[in-house]
Amino acid sequence: MATTIIDGKALSKTIKEEIREEVERIKKNGGKIPHLGAVLIGDNPASESYVRSKVRSCEKCGFKSTLIRKPAQITEPQLLKIIADLNQDDDLDGFIVQLPLPEHIDEDKITLAIDPKKDVDGFHPVNFGRMALGLPSYLPATPNGILEMLKRYNIETTGKHCVVVGRSNIVGKPMSILLSGKSHPGNCTVTLTHSRTKDLKADTLRADIIVAAIGIPNFITADMVKDDVVIIDVGINRVEDVTAKRGYRLIGDVDYEGIFAKASYITPVPGGVGPMTVASLLMNTLKASKNEVFD
Ligand code: NAD
Repeated sequence: MATTIIDGKALSKTIKEEIREEVERIKKNGGKIPHLGAVLIGDNPASESYVRSKVRSCEKCGFKSTLIRKPAQITEPQLLKIIADLNQDDDLDGFIVQLPLPEHIDEDKITLAIDPKKDVDGFHPVNFGRMALGLPSYLPATPNGILEMLKRYNIETTGKHCVVVGRSNIVGKPMSILLSGKSHPGNCTVTLTHSRTKDLKADTLRADIIVAAIGIPNFITADMVKDDVVIIDVGINRVEDVTAKRGYRLIGDVDYEGIFAKASYITPVPGGVGPMTVASLLMNTLKASKNEVFD
């Protein structure tokens, strides 16, 4: 079977265009223009580039956006006050606090302080719990983007064995819940693997679908997968590259070249899961502005 590259960049462009058209209609009818807030603490270059891309995408779709930037020295009470104010801001439909936060700030405390109705990242326990129960919720952006990819590429998931590698609260864990859910895409038999898994290769060799979210470059290799596997590579790893303008390039957790011929579908890095994450944040914000999740 020929390998299909899942083009996350093109798909996210299509989704953003669909959202832009919907925002146009909303504007014409005098409805509420979606408004996303982003809080960026410190000057981590990766975080800056993620937030910049989120704000730029908002503007392209016709959303309003508010960026709040504070230095890394901000205290936890000061940040909690900013969140309390954003929770109260009636024009703001949703907001995100870009992670990671400086070490002196407790990320869990910050996540808990966000009003679940405005938690468009889907990290608050109320949203996570609702997701786990199959109730309407803001789905975490990366797993939601992956579901959208599987749906729009008509990739069969029902009855398939999916191996998720990595158990983070923002990718691996919710992905395993969503893919095992009684929904479409879903209905998979899921194995959630992690750093303490005894024989990972034995698991990945049985997988019809692999979602790799580990953070180790080229970790999943051709000898670990069976023919016609579907590969979803979440990893974003910077590796030194003197020929690149920035001195580094981005690669995934999967040995793309090595696995390519064996896979039925594969996501590239960059241009795969990453752009879909931004698109799904916009989808959540649009839902928030229409009060579709909580009424
Ligand atoms: P994380 O960095 O919090 O944790 C890594 C996970 O990998 C852990 O659960 C750990 O158990 C597992 N792991 C580590 N070593 C392992 C091993 N030897 N065998 C099996 N599992 C092992 O996870 P994260 O936040 O989900 O990030 C993972 C990667 O995905 C990173 O490269 C990150 O940059 C990337 N990421 C990309 C997006 C996107 O939009 N594309 C979004 C989030 C994260």
